[in-house]
Amino acid sequence: MKAVILEQNGGPDELHYKTDYPTPAPGQDEVLVHNEVIGINYIDTYFRTGLYPLPSKPAIIGQEASGTIAAVGPRSKSHRFEVGDRVVWMKFGSYAEYSAVSAEKTIKVPDGISNEDAVGGFLMGMTALSLVKEAYPVQKGDWVMLHAAAGGVGLLMCQLLRAIGAKTIATAGGPEKCELAKKHGADHVIDYKSAGAPKWLDEVKRLTNDEGVAVVYDSVGKDTWENSLEAARRKGKVVFYGNSSGPVPPFPIARLSAKNISVIRPTLMGYTHTREEFEYYANELFQLVKSGDLRIRIHDTYKLENAAQAHRDLEARKTTGKLLLKP
Ligand code: NDP
Repeated sequence: MKAVILEQNGGPDELHYKTDYPTPAPGQDEVLVHNEVIGINYIDTYFRTGLYPLPSKPAIIGQEASGTIAAVGPRSKSHRFEVGDRVVWMKFGSYAEYSAVSAEKTIKVPDGISNEDAVGGFLMGMTALSLVKEAYPVQKGDWVMLHAAAGGVGLLMCQLLRAIGAKTIATAGGPEKCELAKKHGADHVIDYKSAGAPKWLDEVKRLTNDEGVAVVYDSVGKDTWENSLEAARRKGKVVFYGNSSGPVPPFPIARLSAKNISVIRPTLMGYTHTREEFEYYANELFQLVKSGDLRIRIHDTYKLENAAQAHRDLEARKTTGKLLLKP
């Protein structure tokens, strides 16, 4: 089969396209999926660089794809599927034509949702839902700060926050990204890249009358974490959910005491561990996509053989919305 193989950690050039890689067979509780559309996520770059350890080497990275069931494993959990079912899944090893994946982390795509939208909004959409529902349950009227608002997760967050009725202050790099974040629902957008733009923390203080925001959603990490702590109001929360500029370094817990702030470092995997949780978030997402209440913006669809270029574009901050691969 066609697959992108990572033999060692490193830059995008370590992603090697092969056309003769062995097709896997489904294990006991697995299904074999013929991947038609593969989702790219920033986390893929962490596994590529070694920020997150690979389960084995050589590895096929990637966390999600949509396609059709090509075979089912012999045990009960895989028997909720039949060959030919249209599905989307979230696990590990999607940069390939076929993946053998846990039936527990696979779900049928409802009619009326394309494979592109199913995977385009899957991991990112469930992440965004878990961030606004569980990491910090956003209430109507809350002041919210959102970094990287024109990214894949960012644009979905903008839409969900608007639907809840939050007052969102967003950051994005460059005027086009700012415009896009605004169009997707952010109330105030700060360009944290352009010279002359107000420092985003000053702007947050100005907008909130020096009080700060109820919650900061920070996926940028190293470059923003300190000011994110400053931007939270008394009894506020900072949700650190990514490392786009590098991980948040260790810091003294006493730093939270000045304003009784809480900090959380959630992962989607931790919110979708059981089948019940996985189905809950997947079904919530499908409903929003099907009704048109959540729009999936696809930045570009790359050929599988161009996965390295997709990583370059993502890491160079050239993209907005979702990047897809097609075998
Ligand atoms: P994005 O499309 O948001 O791309 C990353 C964006 O981060 C860039 O476009 C850029 O936007 C911003 N950024 C800021 N500083 C840097 C930097 N130094 N290098 C690169 N980018 C930078 O990616 P995703 O939507 O895939 O993911 C967004 C974040 O959410 C990631 O950190 C990811 O790890 C995290 N995430 C976490 C999950 C979880 O379960 N905890 C699940 C899914 C995603 P700009 O130019 O506007 O600054």
